[in-house]
Amino acid sequence: MQLPSTMKAMVLEQQMQPLILKTLPIPLPVAGQVLIKIIACGVCRTDLHITDGELTQPKLPLIIGHEIVGVVVKKGSAITKLNEGDFVGVPWLGYTCGKCKYCFKGKENLCENALFTGYTVDGGYAEYTVAYEQYCFPLNKKYANANGAPLLCAGLIGYRSYSMIDKAAETIGIYGFGAAAHLITQAAIFQHKKIYAFTRDGDYDAQQFALQLGAVWAGDSSKPSPVKLDAAIIFAPVGSLVPKALQDVDKGGEVVCGGIHMTGIPSFSYDILWEERSIHSVANLTRKDGEEFLKLAAEANIKTEIKLFQLHEANEALRQLREGKFTGAAVLMMPD
Ligand SMILES: [Zn+2]
Ligand SMILES: [Zn+2]
Repeated sequence: MQLPSTMKAMVLEQQMQPLILKTLPIPLPVAGQVLIKIIACGVCRTDLHITDGELTQPKLPLIIGHEIVGVVVKKGSAITKLNEGDFVGVPWLGYTCGKCKYCFKGKENLCENALFTGYTVDGGYAEYTVAYEQYCFPLNKKYANANGAPLLCAGLIGYRSYSMIDKAAETIGIYGFGAAAHLITQAAIFQHKKIYAFTRDGDYDAQQFALQLGAVWAGDSSKPSPVKLDAAIIFAPVGSLVPKALQDVDKGGEVVCGGIHMTGIPSFSYDILWEERSIHSVANLTRKDGEEFLKLAAEANIKTEIKLFQLHEANEALRQLREGKFTGAAVLMMPD
């Protein structure tokens, strides 16, 4: 296949500034990497935390984006698994060392030398990218398009958060009903859980959306839960939801914080944590999470609710996400 020598990309030159549309040379895959022609890339809240300066260590200039769906068009040396023409997904976890104490313990999500797609290495707001083969997920044809993009972070992080909950939990509260919530709700209902959806106060569109997906209840997050919950997952980056969720969960209940960044958590009285309630955070993902979740997504026939934007409209997509202007997930489409 004859490849062009340049590509279009939306580039972050400085945090707190809009992305800039640029023409750049197509990157070359090094040993262990493949070159991927991107079909679509999801827009994640983490992208906002990077552009808005809440995550402070990006490589600059940077191509953000870590929910990449594409097709392999060229292989570097030492490629053992993928072939040209294979559809792949590229997630946030771009590389781990395999040698540090976390990798040894099977916690590669905490690797000391990890590379993160669209943060410490270039990501998917572009027509092409390179990625390490061992960190790409082969994609089922059903998800080898814009619909698959949100699975690769919103879905994966949602799944890791959900996996931290006791398997016996029956009632689960979800706080912040966006991209991650709409995917993990479908998986949880498939596994016979009851979902209680808490949204920004007065966000009736999101509440309606949750009910359509099968949530048993949806309402304002400032209101008490109608039942004592077995567990809660917080996806909204709002620290005041932590004591709120602790008050909503039953004795022994778990509160899992699924985001990479959250506003400060207000102090709270010990009695809402007492009786063995717990708070847990989720960081990154392991490849095992990805394999398990993509299998579950196909079994549960998870459908993604997406709003499409063109690559050059990335700043608009980010603005709409920041302002909560749509339900589901935003996805950038690459030009043909
Ligand atoms: Zn490591
Ligand atoms: Zn993400």
